[in-house]
Amino acid sequence: MSQLKRPLVIANWKMNPVTLQEAKTIFTGIKNNSKKFLETTVVIAPPTLYITELKKLTTKTSLALGAQNTHFDVKGAYTGEHSIPQLVEAGVSYIIIGHSERRQQGETDELISRKVMATLKGKCTAVVCVGEKTRDTQGNFYSLIEQQIKAAVGEVQKSRLKDVVIAYEPIWAIGTGATATVADVMEMQLFIKKILTKLFDRTGARNVRVIYGGSVNADNAKELFVSGGINGFLVGGASLKPVDFGKIIQAVN
Ligand code: PEP
Repeated sequence: MSQLKRPLVIANWKMNPVTLQEAKTIFTGIKNNSKKFLETTVVIAPPTLYITELKKLTTKTSLALGAQNTHFDVKGAYTGEHSIPQLVEAGVSYIIIGHSERRQQGETDELISRKVMATLKGKCTAVVCVGEKTRDTQGNFYSLIEQQIKAAVGEVQKSRLKDVVIAYEPIWAIGTGATATVADVMEMQLFIKKILTKLFDRTGARNVRVIYGGSVNADNAKELFVSGGINGFLVGGASLKPVDFGKIIQAVN
């Protein structure tokens, strides 16, 4: 199956767990619970400090590693940051960019665009998060999503769109248990494809994978995936529970 057709499930562990030992236990659990589901691309984005050690556990699996953030520059005087070559050397091939928890800390559309371009230059897949804080009945929140997508991927060359994933993550659904409905997800993924078609063309839009994130769990994954028209999920809370995360992978596989 081509990379684009394979379902994609990404675990965003955020700043969890507290110890490397726990991280290894969760990772091994996911490795065991996902090994039967070979049709699905599974990416684990742990805290950066754990990447090198978890990379050693990826032998005999197809699990890939992701980073939760990056700097756009390759090296230099950027205290506390990590560059793409450093992340790649540690084992990373996917980079989450513009998560709402980072936008909240001041990450701007301009910065996100620079990170996307640097990620592609570094031969990694860019997972760009977009999403509205709240919804209004008039649907004005769609303009915000359009603006976030244009700013993040507007500069990308059409030929590189296979390495771009848009993660639609409504902020009201992240970590709240309030999942978007199948209709919400379906409408939004169609809208995102329409924006991408306007920015590039139909082929370009088809090459971008669109995934959903926001309180995805073992119970709602199947319906959202089957009827939402999406390519997979970005999972926070449930990705720290190997049994639940295994069920989410099974649901898309
Ligand atoms: C996230 O933070 O990207 C996320 C989707 O979190 P959760 O699954 O916990 O809502």
